[in-house]
Amino acid sequence: SNVLSQRVNNLNESASLNTAALAQKLISEGRDIVNFSIGEPDFNTPDAASLEAIKAITMGKTHYSNPQGNLDLREAICEKLQRDNELAYSTDEVIVGSGGKHIIYHTFLATIDPGDQVIVPAPYWVSYPDIASLCGGEPIIVQPDPVSLKLTSTELEKNITQKTKWVVLNSPSNPTGAVYTEAELQSIADVLRKHEHVLILSDEIYEKFVYPPAKHISLINVAPDLKERTLIVNGASKGYAMTGWRIGFGAGAKTLVSAIKKLISQTTTCPSSISQEAAKVAFGDSQPSIVMRDSFQVRRDTAVAILSSSSFLSEIHKPEGAFYLFLNLEKIIGSKTAVGRVLVTDNDIVNFLLEEANVATVSGSAYGMSPYLRISFACSIEQIKKGCQSIVDALSTLQ
Ligand code: PLP
Repeated sequence: SNVLSQRVNNLNESASLNTAALAQKLISEGRDIVNFSIGEPDFNTPDAASLEAIKAITMGKTHYSNPQGNLDLREAICEKLQRDNELAYSTDEVIVGSGGKHIIYHTFLATIDPGDQVIVPAPYWVSYPDIASLCGGEPIIVQPDPVSLKLTSTELEKNITQKTKWVVLNSPSNPTGAVYTEAELQSIADVLRKHEHVLILSDEIYEKFVYPPAKHISLINVAPDLKERTLIVNGASKGYAMTGWRIGFGAGAKTLVSAIKKLISQTTTCPSSISQEAAKVAFGDSQPSIVMRDSFQVRRDTAVAILSSSSFLSEIHKPEGAFYLFLNLEKIIGSKTAVGRVLVTDNDIVNFLLEEANVATVSGSAYGMSPYLRISFACSIEQIKKGCQSIVDALSTLQ
């Protein structure tokens, strides 16, 4: 039909949200599905944040705010950046949006002209290429180091052109959980330094979930000289179990922040006034995220221990961050199911696990990397034990 725009016809729906919705549908139909497709912590929002929101409602803080976000929230974000990241930003270098995704969308909208290229290292969070395309840009997918699945400075350099507008970095990574080391960031910075026209989007939304001895480091910690052309993206969703509140932020150059603010003033006006009050309190306290991190670490180790008992999955790399396992399926491809069906793609394997193991996962193809699948371990330890054992049992029926 010609009702819909080219723009929307060309857009993919978020694959991970789709899989999560399918799993939810099967569960509501009575299927006993273990849902490993979810991309959010299964913890409650910290009480202090929720209570602040209730207070905001009763105190009448229920009106439009500054399109850049309330000043006291931006002050809390600057304090957070100083305390957690040892980075100095002023309140006019910070913009609050309705989630990190909203910030990324408005950032690309504010900067991308038709034909501009956005370098997206594979495997990537599903939304980067689609948001870039939606804003008229051309996503350039760059293949990672085959073992670490991280972007290498060599591949980055090969893919930078005069049309490159943005390079996206995501550490800790969704979907791999990879955390970039200081040395790796240093070599990426060396390349970026040589190409002054390139902007850098550093998505640090999983910052709070890094498992010792790994440490979260921002590109700007190792390359302060790149600060003016880097936008750090972070938010309350993951680290504070606040996905539904929709608060994210960007920290970067004033000119970029002002441009995003101008756009927001014409699109969403401002983030929810109530959520802003809650987030202000959340950013002030690291304790809830430490509790979640410690719990995720145990769940990660449990999942890896059970899955490793399958000969198909013997060499699982333990992710240093986030709450995802990204499993290599090479040894499974080509196997036959009990009824003689050959598993050809990672989608086939995801469907097989949904049918035979009652486990919902997301295929690597959604993240631009096959044959892989992503398992989220942001669910209860009982669910992890049950789901991982079901996967191992289902795989053992393959020939
Ligand atoms: N960046 C990455 C890598 C993510 O995985 C997500 C959510 O899944 C986001 C950004 C966006 O989160 P939000 O819009 O809830 O802040």
